[in-house]
Amino acid sequence: MDIILKGKYIIKCKIETVTGLHIGEGNNSLEIGGIDNAVVKDAEGKPYIPGSSLKGKMRALMEFAEGKVRDNLLVVTVRKNDKPEICIHMCKEKDCPVCGLFGRNHGKHVTKKNLIENPQAEGEDFSDAVIPTRLIARDAKLIESSIPPEIRENLDLEWTEVKFENNIDRITSKANPRQSERVPAGAQFSAEFVINRYEIDSKDDNDYYLKKFLKAMKLLEDDYLGGQGSRGNGKVRFVDIEIFYKDSSDYEKESGKLKPIATAKSLDELKLS
Ligand SMILES: [Zn+2]
Repeated sequence: MDIILKGKYIIKCKIETVTGLHIGEGNNSLEIGGIDNAVVKDAEGKPYIPGSSLKGKMRALMEFAEGKVRDNLLVVTVRKNDKPEICIHMCKEKDCPVCGLFGRNHGKHVTKKNLIENPQAEGEDFSDAVIPTRLIARDAKLIESSIPPEIRENLDLEWTEVKFENNIDRITSKANPRQSERVPAGAQFSAEFVINRYEIDSKDDNDYYLKKFLKAMKLLEDDYLGGQGSRGNGKVRFVDIEIFYKDSSDYEKESGKLKPIATAKSLDELKLS
């Protein structure tokens, strides 16, 4: 396979929380005086949105939207007693918008369909189809000024609020209160995504994957990010969007001042020329 890097699309924008946002640490250990369901924070103690959370959620939404969630198109990434436990879409198809944008893993993969038919199935090697992942999602840092002092005064913690949730036992009426930390609505994070444009075996991507990525952004706006989305958390929107294109030849030039190829206040207003 011949792969040439033609250029890079760079999307800079802000992610604004419309409702409270909870992206967990994946760690429920209870520190003394700590909170039992904390949000991820950077080394300075400020909440941020990990690039991996953005990428993972957008990939999942695109798998559904592109019709890739079928037993013969899902590979098993975690199994339990020879049963598929966690499946994601992965395939060998060259122009697959999901695999092309979000990437494929090396090694052998067994589809959900094959594993159900034959628990000993070894799977197939996708190495022939593996190309460098086109999408890079950077960690999105909190814009401190988006949480003004009058809001910070009312927060439970320095940058976040704490919600109590109750599960009530239907027989005993015993309540099981649980704390959950959230970034407050209105907070903004500065985000950046890069989409590599390749020419593979003489076929140029052009803006195919850029357009697919914009679709993934729109899907995310109508879904949720992080945890407890069905209970109100995690609505986000993309604002102040700027898209740049850097041709591979631009990297040889001395001055790096680039004009965006598209700008918009929101995704709805965005037009690619
Ligand atoms: Zn695929």
